[in-house]
Amino acid sequence: MAVLSIPEIKKKIHTFPKKNLIPLPTPLQRLENLSQALGGPNIYIKRDDLTGLAFGGNKSRKLEFIIQDALDKNADVIITWAAVQSNWCLQTAAVARKFGIKPILLLFKTYELPEEYDGNLLLDFILDADVRIREAEAGKVLRLDDVRGIIEEVENEVKEKGNTSYVAPIGGSMVGGSMEKPLGAISYVNAFIEILEQAEEQDLNINTILHATGSCSTQAGLAVGAKALGKDVHILGISVSDDKESVKEEVATIAQDTVQAMDLKISVKKEDMVVFDEYIGEGYGVMNKDVADALRFVSNQEGIFLDPVYTGKAMTALIDLIKKGFFKKEDNVIFLHTGGTPALFPNKFNLVDFLKK
Ligand SMILES: *Cc1c(COP(=O)(O)O)cnc(C)c1O
Repeated sequence: MAVLSIPEIKKKIHTFPKKNLIPLPTPLQRLENLSQALGGPNIYIKRDDLTGLAFGGNKSRKLEFIIQDALDKNADVIITWAAVQSNWCLQTAAVARKFGIKPILLLFKTYELPEEYDGNLLLDFILDADVRIREAEAGKVLRLDDVRGIIEEVENEVKEKGNTSYVAPIGGSMVGGSMEKPLGAISYVNAFIEILEQAEEQDLNINTILHATGSCSTQAGLAVGAKALGKDVHILGISVSDDKESVKEEVATIAQDTVQAMDLKISVKKEDMVVFDEYIGEGYGVMNKDVADALRFVSNQEGIFLDPVYTGKAMTALIDLIKKGFFKKEDNVIFLHTGGTPALFPNKFNLVDFLKK
């Protein structure tokens, strides 16, 4: 197992070209009140909700690399897909517009929300994205295999008009479509280094990074970063959609692709990945009272808003794990805020109902 130094791994990341779209590093802040209210561990927050692009979020980091790839492939149309209130689709559309690329978004109704112009759907509309809403099985994140037929139809349509499309896989995660390298995960190897450097500056020894996991490249990138640098930092993924085993499998696949693409001399296995699926509730995008309470709790303690689909569920996990004694009092735990706050608004009725109870 060859462990690399930070400069060595940075050098490898620099071989993947990217656009600079976001002010990095994003802040790493101590959550004094929350840590006290929960009685330890020391909780810090990594503000990837502050990436400054289309309301921010983890997808901006990935898109710095992915948009460069699309430009290198001479694309003038980008096709992607996800759920109706997708943060990924919004961020992709915003970045695409910035570079004169037309965004086509296939939005699947994976959970019951009105199709009104609110949250990300409103923002997609302002961006004048070509939005196509489709029916889908409830509660699932859609993999490329689930949507291949529809994507091919749209690709053909674009080709017939004489344009060049780039198919960006959901979440910028799994290699596929037009993305031949795991660019999303590579951006999170970089984020791991960033966190480590900030922690060193603050004289902080990190034990854990906890975050919401969906299409799995955030977790894959962080896990590869930790392993490649030989750091004993636990990466805890809180699934918002699929069961533990399938998420671990997916994280491991993306991590292995990342190891290969970056030519790292390490091995990553499914068994190394830590995923909790106890906090999904009734499925992807379906809120519950615990999530609503967690959103209010964190806003009251810290003045920070989480989202109902991802970070709210990750926070219910953090709170529950603390209550169960999962962490030591002196541990330093980083909660990665991955963004998603526009989804608060289309969930307003549920949120208000739960909070009034
Ligand atoms: C996409 C997303 C995640 C999950 O990240 P993956 O890399 O897809 O696992 C977490 N939080 C928010 C707000 C997201 O939009």
